[in-house]
Amino acid sequence: MRALTYERASDPVRAAAAGATAGAKLICGGTNLLDLMKLGIEQPSHLVDVSRLPLKDIEATADGGLRIGALADNATLAADVRLRERYGAVSQALLAGASAQLRNKASTAGNLLQRTRCLYFYDTLARCNKRSPGQGCAALGGINRNHAILGASDACIATHPSDMAVAMIALDASVEMIDARGATRTVSIHDLYLEPGSTPHIETVVRPGELITAVVMPPPPRGRQLYRKVRDRASYEFALVSVAAIVSVENGTIDSARVAFGGVAHKPWRALEAEAVLRGRPATIDTYRAAADAALARAVGRGHNDFKIELAKRTLIATLDHAARGLA
Ligand SMILES: Cc1cc2nc3c(=O)[nH]c(=O)nc-3n(C[C@H](O)[C@H](O)[C@H](O)COP(=O)(O)OP(=O)(O)OC[C@H]3O[C@@H](n4cnc5c(N)ncnc54)[C@H](O)[C@@H]3O)c2cc1C
Ligand code: SF4
Repeated sequence: MRALTYERASDPVRAAAAGATAGAKLICGGTNLLDLMKLGIEQPSHLVDVSRLPLKDIEATADGGLRIGALADNATLAADVRLRERYGAVSQALLAGASAQLRNKASTAGNLLQRTRCLYFYDTLARCNKRSPGQGCAALGGINRNHAILGASDACIATHPSDMAVAMIALDASVEMIDARGATRTVSIHDLYLEPGSTPHIETVVRPGELITAVVMPPPPRGRQLYRKVRDRASYEFALVSVAAIVSVENGTIDSARVAFGGVAHKPWRALEAEAVLRGRPATIDTYRAAADAALARAVGRGHNDFKIELAKRTLIATLDHAARGLA
């Protein structure tokens, strides 16, 4: 048995300070961290429980956006009327994730910082650069059906598992953090996550001990929002490919579009190339196909996951078509 100590944090700055000490780890719902601890992948010597901090409120902002407390649970957030009406893609993404029981425990911050579901990362007998830098990557020559087709490197081809983050990245959300000295900073969710490069163990720009306090959604863009997730089972399963799309059509022409993919890259993947193709073009299948080709132009399959390139294109085309036509 591995000994560890536990404290329940009483305020955000003290939580950040406690989290910054050697061997410490913040814990909220524990739905990812505890699994990793049981396997010995995470080995904290001190747990800082942040789940009782007063960071659960979901509040309208003065500019017409929404500020989501970092500890709001996934179930409460998905059901929030303001989120459902104005950020439907985020609500749909949350409801497409995990199970009702897990969503009751899982927090907003924990969901953002959950770790990859690469099977070799969870298998401590397998080589994994993310778990043990420099060891190599068993997925490269192994079963890589679930792995990345965009933005991967020869050091790591894992995908990011969060559904919620995909919708949030399409909606230009930003993340607020506080450190042990009480200093705050805000980063766009796009910049929160890193591509693997040669350091796949460094997944985000969050510094040790830094506490996420909120996610801020700017006012929603024009258009209809849709989140579509393709997976091996109808529920309780991570995405093979998912798409968040926000499309605004005026007189048959797309006047604005936002597109992001999940399940295809080390981070939630904003498809700016697709957005550029869509803007100002007729809302037709041919346009969506051109956008899909642009989005996947740099995609690379690793064998078992080659099918994901075509799957991502088809999922994007269907999602754009349904969003533009007001279908579910
Ligand atoms: C069987 C199963 C199926 C799942 N399916 C899906 C799915 O389909 N889609 C999906 O998106 N997710 C899925 N999940 C993942 C689930 O959504 C996450 O485990 C959950 O959101 C993590 O939240 P948590 O509060 O439990 O995080 P924890 O496990 O408590 O923490 C996760 C990480 O976040 C850090 N952390 C927590 N709070 C903070 C904070 N405030 N500031 C800084 N760091 C913090 C912790 O230190 C830890 O590193 C699934 C999980 C399971 C077990
Ligand atoms: S893909 Fe990444 S997480 Fe998976 S085994 Fe390779 S290095 Fe590890």
